[in-house]
Amino acid sequence: MEELWPHLYKELVDVRNKLENHYKDMQDMEFTIEHGKLWMLQCRNGKRTAQAAVRMAVEMVEEGLLNKEEAIMRVGADQLDQLLHPMLDPKAKKTVIATGLPASPGAAVGRAVFNAEDAEAWAAKGEKVILIRSETSPEDIGGMHASQGVITARGGMTSHAAVVARGMGTPCVSGSHEIHIDYATKTMTTDKGVVIKEGDWLSLDGAKGQILEGAVPTVKADTNSGNFGKLMKWVDEIRTIEVRANAETPKDAQQALDFGAQGIGLARTEHMFFDAERIPDMRAMILASDEKGRRAALARLLPYQKEDFKSLFKIMNGFPVVIRLLDPPLHEFLPHTDAEMQELANKMGMTLEQVKQRANALHEANPMLGHRGCRLPITYPEICEMQTRAIIEAAMECADAGIKVVPEIEVPLTGSKKELDIVKNIIDTTAEKVFSEKGKKIVYQVGSMIELPRAALKADELAQSAEFFGFGTNDLTQTTLGMSRDDTGAILDEYRARGVYVADPFASIDVEGVGMLVKMACHKARSSNPKIWLGVCGEHGGDPASIDFFQTCGMNYVSCSPFRVPVARLAAAQAAVRHKNDKAEDSNDFCCCKKSA
Ligand code: PEP
Ligand code: MG
Repeated sequence: MEELWPHLYKELVDVRNKLENHYKDMQDMEFTIEHGKLWMLQCRNGKRTAQAAVRMAVEMVEEGLLNKEEAIMRVGADQLDQLLHPMLDPKAKKTVIATGLPASPGAAVGRAVFNAEDAEAWAAKGEKVILIRSETSPEDIGGMHASQGVITARGGMTSHAAVVARGMGTPCVSGSHEIHIDYATKTMTTDKGVVIKEGDWLSLDGAKGQILEGAVPTVKADTNSGNFGKLMKWVDEIRTIEVRANAETPKDAQQALDFGAQGIGLARTEHMFFDAERIPDMRAMILASDEKGRRAALARLLPYQKEDFKSLFKIMNGFPVVIRLLDPPLHEFLPHTDAEMQELANKMGMTLEQVKQRANALHEANPMLGHRGCRLPITYPEICEMQTRAIIEAAMECADAGIKVVPEIEVPLTGSKKELDIVKNIIDTTAEKVFSEKGKKIVYQVGSMIELPRAALKADELAQSAEFFGFGTNDLTQTTLGMSRDDTGAILDEYRARGVYVADPFASIDVEGVGMLVKMACHKARSSNPKIWLGVCGEHGGDPASIDFFQTCGMNYVSCSPFRVPVARLAAAQAAVRHKNDKAEDSNDFCCCKKSA
């Protein structure tokens, strides 16, 4: 065009510059040339990949077209995920054979396996595998670690598979109702009639919730480009909410730190016992029929716990580390098969029958609302004593080695000040005991999770005994909606289709319901304890729309899976820009939460 019609070309370039300066954004323009005249037909902001969005935002600041606040609004926080994980090659040929929930982003390619042991065995031989399960449980952790990706037929966005995979940065498609698994023949059949046998290659796109036929080529993520670093520096200057990570392994903690996390907002201690070496002692503790038996198993667990905490403190040197007391629905740890029960019986000097009886006695009709959270230390204080000792001793040893550490001990599933006080008393008494044994002291904090509507309603009272609150919005959503976080995939699809909820409330906070409780609890907490530090550590802590809402609650921090940390940093900065002119009283406006547009 430049050669054929140089004057028209110049005119087009002038118009392009004018439009770009006017809209302060890249323009997708349509034009035509008729009888030697240039006609502009229409223009719109151009679509772009995450890489392009970051580059454009940075270059437009450098050209003086945008300021930093405008620039950070140009990159979709959810888009950022694309920069952190490998992606399926956009140019590759793809056949989607089934879809499910986009539970954990990234592309994975591997050979189908149908149980965790096979995943580990195949991976040990150098095979890349995709683990396919109806749903996952703690026993599958080793297999999930060994897999490139995870697919489940059941479960929602906060099911075990989804939460654990996100934490590991492993791509996952959960709750795919279009697949049917037959463990006996080790096959998966899709609604479209595609049959995947053990060893067949398949791929998944965890950001789109797609399962694909064959080994689709992937492209590596570009996280270290100069532009990405520049943008994230501006993001950190602008945001007012701290971003921490949910992490309990050194690998995840280090990954979180590398992604810019400012501490750990939730270390789920029960995840520290998934390891094959430790789970037998964990089970022995759970199955013990008396305090003596529990103490014996706990004594074996103490050194593991201490080492776990020391490595978190070392990595997070100077940053806060929130350690949550054991919160397992007990059923998650119980052995299911006779072989596993027999192994446990041998270890505990019991008969198979005795183990079965004990497991039956512990059976709960509704374990999520059962013997978990703070109910464990209230009924079995020795568990909390062991964990407190491990935390305090680890912190002291780290402090001796010159590491700055302020452990924050968090009590789960409280609903009243009385419960928190009982557990706090166990923590304080144990800490005092360790201090007098060692002849020195360290500073630690005690806080509460807010995961029950009652806790939110009584937040002013709980805040009198707490130095911080961690809003466990996964459980708070489950208990407020009265809807199981593990079983709602199909129901929620229908609910969203009928407009009951705009988004999956387990992925993006239900502003008008659960959100109202959160905002009210923040307000009540600050009214009785103005210094209290407030954060969110449910999955919503990594969701941009939810972070925007938490900004209006005056939240101090959000905590999310390591791979969500950059997303949360950007979302927090965008929320700070959007709400910078909000009046202070808006954060108390919990009686009439504004409808999101
Ligand atoms: C929560 O309930 O939001 C939470 C963080 O705890 P968990 O997911 O471990 O129950
Ligand atoms: Mg919880």
